[in-house]
Amino acid sequence: MKVVIGCDHAGLVLKNEIIKSLIEEQHEVIDCGTYTAESVDYPDIAEELAHKVLDEKIPGVLICGTGIGVAIAANKIPGIRAALCQNNYGARLAREHNDANILAIGARITAGAMAIEIVNTFLNTDFQAGRHLLRVEKINKLEENVARGVKKVDYIDKYVKSVDPEVAAAIEKEEIRQSQKLELIASENFVSRAVMAAQGCVMTNKYAEGLPGARYYGGCENVDVVEDIARERVKKIFAAEHANVQPHSGAQANTAVYFAAVKLGDTIMGMNLNHGGHLTHGSKVNLSGKYFNFVDYGVNPESEMIDYDQLRETALQVKPKMIVAGASAYPRTLDFKKFREIADEAGALLFVDMAHIAGLVAAGLHPSPVPYADFVASTTHKTLRGPRGGFILCRQEWAQKIDKAVFPGIQGGPLMHVIAAKAVCFKEALTDDFKAYQNDIVVNAAVLAKGLIENGLRLVSGGTDNHLMLVDVRPKNLTGKEAEAILESINITVNKNAIPFDPQKPTVTSGIRVGTPAITSRGLKADDMREMAQAIALALSNPESADKLAEARAIVGNLCAKYPLYGI
Ligand code: PLP
Repeated sequence: MKVVIGCDHAGLVLKNEIIKSLIEEQHEVIDCGTYTAESVDYPDIAEELAHKVLDEKIPGVLICGTGIGVAIAANKIPGIRAALCQNNYGARLAREHNDANILAIGARITAGAMAIEIVNTFLNTDFQAGRHLLRVEKINKLEENVARGVKKVDYIDKYVKSVDPEVAAAIEKEEIRQSQKLELIASENFVSRAVMAAQGCVMTNKYAEGLPGARYYGGCENVDVVEDIARERVKKIFAAEHANVQPHSGAQANTAVYFAAVKLGDTIMGMNLNHGGHLTHGSKVNLSGKYFNFVDYGVNPESEMIDYDQLRETALQVKPKMIVAGASAYPRTLDFKKFREIADEAGALLFVDMAHIAGLVAAGLHPSPVPYADFVASTTHKTLRGPRGGFILCRQEWAQKIDKAVFPGIQGGPLMHVIAAKAVCFKEALTDDFKAYQNDIVVNAAVLAKGLIENGLRLVSGGTDNHLMLVDVRPKNLTGKEAEAILESINITVNKNAIPFDPQKPTVTSGIRVGTPAITSRGLKADDMREMAQAIALALSNPESADKLAEARAIVGNLCAKYPLYGI
């Protein structure tokens, strides 16, 4: 057998004794030094030997005064399992149970004859695998997690379970649900561990009504730092003059814009909910629709894209105080220049709600509304991949009105822990990695859209320019509600969604909305999208076939296993 051996100055005499014995036993020995009694640093020897062990896939023996230093150093190298052994029993189990690939010996602790016995036991014992294999794989997983920056600190287990086992159990089940299903809800995403940790921090304890430097509470010096950082970063991302990062949600942000810029009963134009608009853009069941006179615009029945001519005509007719651009289920690029021209012609303010596309805008993959709009509002938790929340951008001239509309207008104390998480999200959004991620979202959506069309589904407007698509499931003789349930049965989560001019009720619908932000965060790439399209089409084409559903479920299961979420 080929064996590599190394030591520091304290282990030199013992190393030479062991080498002599190994050669007598017909082993081939590689000696990594040290070769003299001169003082050396054991991590250097351990590093060189560890790489030999990994490169040549051979066992190693490391010796220093106690064996501890060389073992600690060697174990820093991914793939190394160095075991400090002081007797035969330990050496045997280090191989049988731990598949140790380096034996560490202390020259000042273990006498020569004993050390030689331990080395022989170590070299002549095999790994038992079986139940030990899973544990060794878990050791390897720890290394992978460190490399990927994943730190599984189980706060729920540690802090919640003992106080509230029912809630802890539901959270754990949710963790499993998220990791074992593929999330295609277009408005959802998976935040980084950094964002999640910031959101779970002590800033949840702090009241901070007001703005940084002008609070109604003492003790705000640290939350001030965080809110200032968040404001500066979001202004930088979107090249905006002013930012307010306090809105608790997208709906709150929109309400604050209305509160700042229009009066009760004023006429506002917003996109029809059934054509892709959002509830807060004038739905009769929402505060916006109850307190303002909303007039809607929508998509052209042929192209299923926004009908800017009709929008202009209506705007010139009703002379709105404000036009709202933005949507929750619109798969095409929004033409903010055109919106601005129409708003100017009609004498209206332009408000863009970029909640869905904020991440794409941040990465330059969708035109920015900031140069055109008087106000831009957004959520932080969709493509932008931050904590659940909102923010507003505006020109300096509107800064005071917007700030006052948020507080004391419609909110009390800001959620400072969420603002801390927003700050972290904004930092992430300024990186090249984030730009690459947004690019992957768009590529994945395009490939998935193509795959669904090739598999016989119809996409509203014929495709997608962004992160989502609206799938008309009528070609498969299904309603949106049925399609949602079928996909749930193969572990894909989507939401039923009205399509333009939908004959079905909103609780039934003829479509589903499909988005790629969350699965792209998980790491799925274009090739995986082809498999996703196949799984979706297989299920929607064969909802009665247990075999086909099982086949689709297996595709999903493999993708979940290939791309673990949070290392789970
Ligand atoms: N605006 C748009 C365009 C949205 O799609 C949404 C949510 O889906 C919102 C606003 C509301 O955001 P929130 O749920 O945070 O209130």
